[in-house]
Amino acid sequence: MKNFEKFSSVLSRGDSRTPASLDGTIDTILDKVLAGREASEQDGITLFNANQHDIKKVFSVADKLRKRANGDAVTFVVNRNINFTNVCYMGCKFCGFAKKLNQKGSELLSIDDIVFRAQEAWDRGATEVCIQGGLHPKISGDIYRNIIKGIKKVLPNIHIHAFSPFEIWFGASKKRLTYVNFLRDLKDCGLGSMPGTAAEILDIEIRKKLTKNKLSTEKWIEIIKTAHSLNIPTTATIMYGHIDSPIHWAEHLARLREIQKETGGFTELVPLSFVYKESPLYKENPSIVRRGPTLNEIKRMHAIARIMLSGWIDNIQVSWTKLGPKIAQEMLSLGVNDLGGTLMNESISRSSGSQFGQEITASEMVKIIRHAGRNPAQRNTIYEISKTFDGCDPKELPPLVPRNGTNPLEFIN
Ligand code: SF4
Repeated sequence: MKNFEKFSSVLSRGDSRTPASLDGTIDTILDKVLAGREASEQDGITLFNANQHDIKKVFSVADKLRKRANGDAVTFVVNRNINFTNVCYMGCKFCGFAKKLNQKGSELLSIDDIVFRAQEAWDRGATEVCIQGGLHPKISGDIYRNIIKGIKKVLPNIHIHAFSPFEIWFGASKKRLTYVNFLRDLKDCGLGSMPGTAAEILDIEIRKKLTKNKLSTEKWIEIIKTAHSLNIPTTATIMYGHIDSPIHWAEHLARLREIQKETGGFTELVPLSFVYKESPLYKENPSIVRRGPTLNEIKRMHAIARIMLSGWIDNIQVSWTKLGPKIAQEMLSLGVNDLGGTLMNESISRSSGSQFGQEITASEMVKIIRHAGRNPAQRNTIYEISKTFDGCDPKELPPLVPRNGTNPLEFIN
């Protein structure tokens, strides 16, 4: 791992550009934001570096902005994750999900299997299937359209939220099509929206280390903007807590905001904590690579994302698969208004070593939200509310059923 010696120099360059938090500066930034003006990238860095006293004010402003934008509703979507293959040749250093071809545990689902899983999800009330997979060296570029067409033939009304920009890059190269033509075809087949995953950190130097620069920052942005230009909305993500620092986080959030100003195509931001356990990045460089963000950083990320994206991306989602239900619930008072999907079979986070993943049912979502003193609302992928739970007492909801020997809500107050 020759390149990893350079990590420390990247980080120290970042830290040397990071200003110390100054008395009064935080108040000025927060007053500005509450008055409806934008927090600059530099302001974001200052907020990330706020001391323990000032950070409470930052959290309080994030909560105020959330209430202003979303009221007391906390949304979730009933969906199923289908990871159709875990085979991938790309070798991203942070990834604990991918397996080599023929490695034990590697799999590639048939179209019939994928359609069967989508049907099961629909029968259980899901409105969306979220489909992503590795970059399997032997698949054809047609697999993406075949998956969509296979599902739509049987379930014309299910929303297909599928394929990261990395998969679009891969599929388009296999088909020798431009991104616009490849995406237009997927949309014609029935693609509803795309996950804005594979963003990791949109800092050129850090990203080069994480993804071997196969999908560069510029290409990620180009594919996302192309999707938006075709009216294919996407989520936005940030993966943090590895070889990055606050300067990269503020830069990333500012970049997302600039894209949103241009296209308006992001539906939400989902901060994703780096899960270190099974990642080559950590295993090969345990003295340099961090073990994911601290709880303090997780809180800051959700709150400062709310502040920096205020008025542009007003849905901030917490990932319960990365953090677990208890910490996810805690984030609801720090700027978060969405709990994401019920998922059914999440495997990416679990493969990387997360102890969470699998499923939270709709009634469990309602309980988490109610116990946080907020109003649960079921939504579709594009944030249209389909069901509210007014007057529904969580005590009257069905008892929680432990799965795989664990109760997903055992930590909930
Ligand atoms: S993150 Fe995605 S593209 Fe990278 S190795 Fe893992 S599965 Fe492959």
